[in-house]
Amino acid sequence: MAPKNRWREHPAELLRVGEGFSLADVDPRATPGWGGTKQQGKAFGKARGPLLSELQERLYAHGRTGGSRSVLLVVQGMDTSGKGGVVRHVMGMVDPQGVALRAFGRPTEEEARHHYLWRVRRALPTGGQIGVFDRSHYEDVLVARVDELVEPAVWQKRYEEINRFEREVAEAGTTIIKVALVISREEQGLRLMERLQRFDKHWKFDPADVDARKKWDDYQQAYADVLDRTSTDVAPWYVVPADRKWYARLAVTELLTRALIDLGLGWPTPRWKVETQQRRLAATMDEATIAEARASEKAVKKKLKRDEQEFAAAVAAATG
Ligand code: AMP
Ligand code: MG
Repeated sequence: MAPKNRWREHPAELLRVGEGFSLADVDPRATPGWGGTKQQGKAFGKARGPLLSELQERLYAHGRTGGSRSVLLVVQGMDTSGKGGVVRHVMGMVDPQGVALRAFGRPTEEEARHHYLWRVRRALPTGGQIGVFDRSHYEDVLVARVDELVEPAVWQKRYEEINRFEREVAEAGTTIIKVALVISREEQGLRLMERLQRFDKHWKFDPADVDARKKWDDYQQAYADVLDRTSTDVAPWYVVPADRKWYARLAVTELLTRALIDLGLGWPTPRWKVETQQRRLAATMDEATIAEARASEKAVKKKLKRDEQEFAAAVAAATG
């Protein structure tokens, strides 16, 4: 039996940053909209795999035949908020061929010589791809502001610049989903401490993480301003409570599924005629093999019909 869809309300509506949003009112331990247990949530997220993967194949096929649509998932959050886990989880459910992952760290020497959006433009997904950003241009109004890497006048004008940039990207055919993972200060303390308690997690720890943690309130203010100033119609922010890792992964899976469904992509139609190519191919085959192909045609078409019905039903269930 397929696990039950226990979303009471779609996270796309619940988590979207709109008018009157307040970061201070977000409960990082909450699981908005999910009406089931952790186990049920995990099972349901896993069961999204086949649908997500078929949706992605359609997008990929669209790109391979010259289409310009793509999806960009931007993942932001404090250290230990689970960005890597969300990214790994999402990537694990689709064909790696169609995903372009980019993690943004401290700019390299070359990157630092360019405008801050330079490295971002180069990492944008091309037609048919799902682009995933682990951190992003938002670091240039977060860490750059909190650590005073640039003057206030410089980062202050970046919000509008980012909005313009994202509008351009959206107009070129990219659906943008921006996810802010929100953890509590207590949970971050626990996760950082665990990294220190386990020698197999030391590689994840950076002494600078403690410095950033000491500036918690400054970061909260910087995040609040980002959410307030850069959640737009074409590139909305979704604030995802992330103290419960399973919820964050489940919610992001659902946001991505919805975005892919909304693309409404069918299978591309070829530029050549099927019958003509069938005749040409048949001319290269012997009679017995042609007969074999003919004999299985009915079963092939039947399976196709069933697959299409299952897909339509899954889409209807996911949107209904
Ligand atoms: P991690 O995501 O744990 O690999 O850490 C990446 C680090 O790079 C974080 O400390 C970020 O704050 C930092 N970083 C990312 N983008 C920028 C940027 N544009 N300027 C300065 N630091 C950055
Ligand atoms: Mg880190």
